[in-house]
Amino acid sequence: MNEIILKGVPAAKGISYGPAFILDKVEFIVPKSAILDHEVNSEIARFEEAINKARQEINSLKEKITREIGLNKAQIFDSHLLILEDPSLYEQVCEGIRKDLNTAEYVFSMIVKKYVDAFNKISDEYLRERAADVNDAAKRVFKHLVDESKLHDLDNLQDNLIIVAHDLSPSDTVSLYNKKIIAFVTDIGGRTSHTAIIAKSLGVPAVVGLKDATLRITNGDFLIVDGQKGLLIINPTSVTKDLYVKEQSQIHASLEKLDDLKNLPAQTTDGKKISLLANLELSNEIPTVKKFGAEGVGLYRTEFLYMNRLDLPTEEEQYEAYKQVAEAIRPQGVTIRTLDIGGDKFISSVQIPKEMTPFLCSRAIRFCLERPDIFKTQLRAILRASVHGRVQMMYPMISGIGELRQANNILDEVKRSLTIQKISFDPSFKVGVMIEVPSAVMTADILAKEADFFSIGTNDLIQYTLAVDRVNEKTAHLYEPSHPAVLRMIQRTVDAAHNEEISVSLCGEMASDPVMAFILIGLGIDQLSMSASSILTIKKMIRSVRLSDVQRVSKEVMSMTTGQEVEEFVSSQMRKLGVL
Ligand code: PEP
Ligand code: MG
Repeated sequence: MNEIILKGVPAAKGISYGPAFILDKVEFIVPKSAILDHEVNSEIARFEEAINKARQEINSLKEKITREIGLNKAQIFDSHLLILEDPSLYEQVCEGIRKDLNTAEYVFSMIVKKYVDAFNKISDEYLRERAADVNDAAKRVFKHLVDESKLHDLDNLQDNLIIVAHDLSPSDTVSLYNKKIIAFVTDIGGRTSHTAIIAKSLGVPAVVGLKDATLRITNGDFLIVDGQKGLLIINPTSVTKDLYVKEQSQIHASLEKLDDLKNLPAQTTDGKKISLLANLELSNEIPTVKKFGAEGVGLYRTEFLYMNRLDLPTEEEQYEAYKQVAEAIRPQGVTIRTLDIGGDKFISSVQIPKEMTPFLCSRAIRFCLERPDIFKTQLRAILRASVHGRVQMMYPMISGIGELRQANNILDEVKRSLTIQKISFDPSFKVGVMIEVPSAVMTADILAKEADFFSIGTNDLIQYTLAVDRVNEKTAHLYEPSHPAVLRMIQRTVDAAHNEEISVSLCGEMASDPVMAFILIGLGIDQLSMSASSILTIKKMIRSVRLSDVQRVSKEVMSMTTGQEVEEFVSSQMRKLGVL
């Protein structure tokens, strides 16, 4: 087998090697297994029985959901039934069993794969997403065809796996938590897509935007994922493999050395302290946050609580989740971000219309203001959790003072009703604004008068400032954190915050890049929040520099004309100072 090297977008650092597991929506790998002529009829009968059982199951599930949540939520099952009742699917499977003399599960898996591939190629997004329905319906049939314990699904596989997928939605990635995953590679996506964010929080490398990797890889192929350079190597030669084994052990050794920094402050050699906090998606990550010595949680992305379910989380459920995080992180603080769905994050319990430009439509605070019922439930839960630790809250994607006031009016209403019900919350509860839209930067002086703090969300601020889709691999090269426009946006926000004596943190992915973090400190950012596994690397950099040097370099940077010039200059200065 020849070694193949593919170049993609580096999304999470590190090196991993191991077997590929293709998550092409058909999560089951069914081994090919021959049957004899006289077994054909019984094999077809087994298939018919499995289809019938799956249909019965779907029908009773549909009845249950209709009873409990309503008919419109149950309609999703109609499309599953339609698939299982499709005469052409049935015919193809029977024909395959007869002609190829293979087991029903094998023939069925091949035909399902064909359907899923066909849907995946359709340009219409709605139709393309029907691939998930085919897959869900097929899974039910598989369950009745194969002894479940023998299915090679993610839970049963023993090896450490490299997940290979065309794309991973945030909800796909969440369902991969706690599995033995050592890397992610995807055909599409950019540096701050949620595959990158989840990979970082799991502490594994990721390369995205590989274009056609899923077509070139077969299940079980040996892969090397180089998250630093954004490379994927398929079936490497032994020479390449040896090189990477060596490089990986060097990386591990230098990461181990960083452990000594865990309990030391993130302070420059001349005494300037910068708080380093962690971003958190799910409460499973709390041990990692502690392991890397984060000084609290600077961004708790609550939308992950709403994913992979048909209903919305209740107030009680949310309260328990927020309370758990607040108590675990206490005495340090947690900044809970209110629901940020839309864009590339969807939840099944709420139908958000598919738009041409989802990042510019009903997303984040806009969605919450349109659905005060959902918003109020979350606000009640967050306020109730505020007595269990140091909790503050921020709104995502605020584009002007009007939205902040509207959101705060709803918050006041919720506070009043809690007071009437004699339910306690922190009376000095702080409410911040995420700065991730250019209009928020341009009115930061106005916002700073009514916000308790700012947190700059550069993942979005970069996409909206440079008009570059953050999840699209085709424009990934234009997604430039060091672009002068981005740096000026940040500078302006910091100045506006400090004029009103409020703190400003930055929680986008650029906080975890040592070169960018160096500039940010020079621009006056008070706190950096990032995936926990990056904290010690950034702390090492901070502890090796003098604030006066950092400020001098950052000042020079602000007069530069291109992102490339900025990066080259800062990298060379950092090398001179011995910190890179
Ligand atoms: C950001 O936009 O920088 C941010 C931190 O939020 P998210 O990545 O969840 O949009
Ligand atoms: Mg954002």
